[in-house]
Amino acid sequence: MSLTGRRIVVAGGGIGGLAAALALRQRGAEVRVLEQAEAITEVGAGIQVSPNGLRVIEALGLVQPLVSRASRGRAVVLRDGPSGAQVLRLDLARLPEGQGYHFVHRADLVELLATAARAAGVEIRLLQKVRAVTPGPAPRSRSATATGSAEN
Ligand SMILES: Cc1cc2nc3c(=O)[nH]c(=O)nc-3n(C[C@H](O)[C@H](O)[C@H](O)COP(=O)(O)OP(=O)(O)OC[C@H]3O[C@@H](n4cnc5c(N)ncnc54)[C@H](O)[C@@H]3O)c2cc1C
Repeated sequence: MSLTGRRIVVAGGGIGGLAAALALRQRGAEVRVLEQAEAITEVGAGIQVSPNGLRVIEALGLVQPLVSRASRGRAVVLRDGPSGAQVLRLDLARLPEGQGYHFVHRADLVELLATAARAAGVEIRLLQKVRAVTPGPAPRSRSATATGSAEN
């Protein structure tokens, strides 16, 4: 579906917002991301990209750059907290080729998505906190408007 001519505002430049912004841009929309933070970044540790997540990465054209930043998982083991006893083990080696399970640092994934989004023409505005979203008919054929305004 072509979105050429549509103007879309994405609230939040996290993993979800950046992936959505890139996907919408790849379909021709004019996309702006409003992020409240002063930088596009992620704290925390790793994130597991499961086969369904990898399908999204593939659709965005980012499999190779993701794989180059990631470690391929061989297994996921769930353990009981107090005892450490194994509760469940997912043998990831049994997944078919092309359905890998990857572990990547969150900061690397966000940086990858933000770089690709910017390169595709997505406008990312920082220090913009969305205060209100008004759904429904909007001026100049926009189906929704988001009002971003600087925090300070
Ligand atoms: C402990 C933990 C472990 C997880 N592990 C995994 C995993 O292994 N694999 C996996 O697939 N998922 C995992 N998840 C889920 C995954 O982290 C989330 O699905 C994902 O981060 C959601 O992305 P998001 O962009 O929607 O939200 P977020 O990553 O929370 O990003 C939201 C962004 O929006 C901005 N924002 C918020 N409000 C506003 C506003 N009003 N105006 C402007 N900007 C705003 C924030 O500053 C932030 O940058 C885990 C989650 C947790 C908590």
